[in-house]
Amino acid sequence: MTFGEIPMQQSTSLAAIPAVDRVLNFPAVQALAAEYGRAPTLVAVRGALDQLRELARGGALAADAVNEPRLAARVQSALEDAARPLLRPVFNLTGTVLHTNLGRAPLPEEAIAHAVEVMRRPCNLEYDLGGGSRGDRDSLVEPLLKELTGAEAATVVNNNAAAVFLALNTLGLRREVIVSRGELVEIGGAFRVPDIMARAGCKLVEVGTTNRTHLRDFESAISDKTALLLKVHTSNYAIQGFTAAAEEHELATLAHTHELPFMVDLGSGTLVDLSAWGLPKEPTPQQSLAAGADLVTFSGDKLLGGPQAGIIVGRRDLIAKIKKNPLKRALRVDKITYATLEAVLRLYRDPERLAQRLPTLRLLTRPLADIETTAQAILPALQQAFSHTAEVSIAPTHSQIGSGSLPIDRLPSCCVAITLRVKGKGEGSALKKIEQAFRELPVPVIGRVAEGAFRLDVRCLEDKNVSGFVEQLAQLRSR
Ligand SMILES: *Cc1c(COP(=O)(O)O)cnc(C)c1O
Repeated sequence: MTFGEIPMQQSTSLAAIPAVDRVLNFPAVQALAAEYGRAPTLVAVRGALDQLRELARGGALAADAVNEPRLAARVQSALEDAARPLLRPVFNLTGTVLHTNLGRAPLPEEAIAHAVEVMRRPCNLEYDLGGGSRGDRDSLVEPLLKELTGAEAATVVNNNAAAVFLALNTLGLRREVIVSRGELVEIGGAFRVPDIMARAGCKLVEVGTTNRTHLRDFESAISDKTALLLKVHTSNYAIQGFTAAAEEHELATLAHTHELPFMVDLGSGTLVDLSAWGLPKEPTPQQSLAAGADLVTFSGDKLLGGPQAGIIVGRRDLIAKIKKNPLKRALRVDKITYATLEAVLRLYRDPERLAQRLPTLRLLTRPLADIETTAQAILPALQQAFSHTAEVSIAPTHSQIGSGSLPIDRLPSCCVAITLRVKGKGEGSALKKIEQAFRELPVPVIGRVAEGAFRLDVRCLEDKNVSGFVEQLAQLRSR
C-alpha cells in the first residue's frame, strides 16, 4: 500500500457549520428539546457548534461532522452529560471504610426510609405534637442520646467541628481554655484545634510537652481567666513510647475543684464497645461522661455510622447555655439530618443486631472469608477486561477504618491487584491510566495505586452490589 491510497479525511470550513436556529429545527433535536427542555437544548446546541468552530479553525473539522444525524448525536451527548448529577454514587474500594472524601458513613436502610418520608411531606421538626405549640428540634434525638450515653442533655449541630466551635464560643469567649500540647490535633487540614479555638474567641493555653502532660501542668495553668479544661482525643495519630497524659477522671476532678467545666472532644465517638466485635477499643461518650466530663462532642458520620452532624452531650445547664448562643441557629441541622440521626440512634438500642443493620459496623466487621468470596466473584470479569495488558490476581491487604478513627489499627482484608505485564519505564503512568479508566465508569470505581499495582480492596463491595459492579466492567474493555 502506498501513502497515496490512504483516503484523506475530508475537512470542511466554518461556513459549513449551520446556524443555531437551523439545528434547533432538526427533528432529532426537537425530540431532544421535548425530553430535556428547550433551554438546556439551546445551551447544548451552542456548545456543540462552538466545538465544531474550534475544530474548523484548526482545520480538523470532518465534512460529515456537520450533517444532521452527527450533529444531533453531539447535542444529545452534551445533554446527557449536563443532565448527569455531579454528586453521584461511587464504589469505595480504597480500603478506607469511612472515607471523608467519599461521603464517610453509608446510611442504614432504616435511616434512608425515614428521611424519604420526612422529605416528602411536612413534619413536626419544631412542633410539639403534645402541646400543639412550637417545639425544639433537639427533642427529636435528645431522649435517645440521653438513653444511650447517660447524659443529662444533648444538642446537635452541623458537624463535630461546629460542635467544638460552638461549645468553646459559649463557655470560653474572651477567656482561657487549657489543653495539652500533645492534643493540638489537625484533622484533614481544615480543622485545627488552635485555629478553631482562636475563631471561637478563646485564648489557648497549652500545657505540658508533645509526649508528656501531667495533671500538675493543668493545675499550675489554672487562673481566674480560665474558662474550661479541654481534652481532645488524638484520633488520627498516636503518641507512643515515653508518654504521659492526664486521665479524664483526674482532669474532671481538678476542673470541678476550681468550679470549671471539663470538656472532651472525642472526634469519632462510637456508642458501643467495638471490642465486642473484635475491633480495637475506641473511647465512648458514656465513658467520658462517667469519668466526670461535663460536655462531650463527637461526629455523626464517623464510627457512629450516621449522617454528617456534630453531637454535644452533657450537663443540662451547659447544654442550655449552648442552645441559647445565637450561633446555634447558624450551625443547626435540617429535618433530613434529624430523621437519619434518629433512625441510626434507634438501631443502637439493639446492639445485638447492630452489626447487620448499621453499614459502617457491618463493613468493619465483615469476615475475611466473605471478602475473599467477593474477590473471587469479580476476578474473572477483571481478568477478561485486562487479558492483554495486565495480570489480575487476588492479594491480601489491610483496610483502615478512616476519618481519624483508630489510626494505627488495620483490618485484614483482601484486594484484587492489577499489575502490568510490561514493567519499568511508563509503568507508573500506565497504572494511573487504569486508575482513571475505573473512575470514568458509570458508577466510578475508586481504588488506589500501591506497591506497583492498582488495588481494589473489596471489603466495601457488598453482595448486593457485585452484579452492578461486574456489569459495567465491559466498558473497560471497549476502551
Ligand atoms: C473528626 C474530628 C473532628 C471534626 O469532626 P467533623 O465531624 O469532621 O467536623 C474534631 N475533633 C476530632 C478529635 C476529630 O477526630
